[in-house]
Amino acid sequence: MALAERSGLTVDRGIVVNEFLETNVPGIFAAGDAARWPDPHTGELTRIEHWVLAERQGQVAALNMLGRRERFNAVPFFWSQHFDVTIRYVGRAEKWDVIEVVGSLDARDASVRFVRDGRMTAVATVGRDRACLEAELALEQTESTGGR
Ligand SMILES: Cc1cc2nc3c(=O)[nH]c(=O)nc-3n(C[C@H](O)[C@H](O)[C@H](O)COP(=O)(O)OP(=O)(O)OC[C@H]3O[C@@H](n4cnc5c(N)ncnc54)[C@H](O)[C@@H]3O)c2cc1C
Repeated sequence: MALAERSGLTVDRGIVVNEFLETNVPGIFAAGDAARWPDPHTGELTRIEHWVLAERQGQVAALNMLGRRERFNAVPFFWSQHFDVTIRYVGRAEKWDVIEVVGSLDARDASVRFVRDGRMTAVATVGRDRACLEAELALEQTESTGGR
């Protein structure tokens, strides 16, 4: 971050970028753990340390370096594996009103839905990869219909 600041980039708990992952200095882009971008799914400037997100941001930043004007609008996703327990998480839920569990966490076969203001904002799954993909699709579609 010190290097970014010394280079004249706006830094606020990460290198601040716009929806094209471009910094305040035209032609300079940031992606991955270092970048804080406007997440269209929450409307907030967000920085997330997830592997797949870093990959997807790198792809969009690279396209934009080549002159494309691609908005970064992917839904954040990560996976993790702890011995034989697989966890998938899609979306973003720093706060929530309700957590709904469908299935059995004890049996390691469950979906956990985070709901805020009546809207699903994130889903964690254990042993249910397909349910996670379906949730990702639902979250993408929610954003395109303005949060409804
Ligand atoms: C222990 C651990 C476990 C994790 N587990 C998961 C997980 O289960 N699932 C998941 O989704 N994510 C996980 N993550 C997060 C994931 O690894 C990161 O989100 C991802 O690696 C970010 O990619 P990046 O390219 O933004 O940054 P990095 O992978 O950190 O790459 C940055 C690169 O820049 C180099 N660099 C830094 N400063 C300079 C400099 N001044 N000059 C030149 N090079 C420099 C670094 O050496 C590094 O190679 C984990 C991270 C850690 C540390």
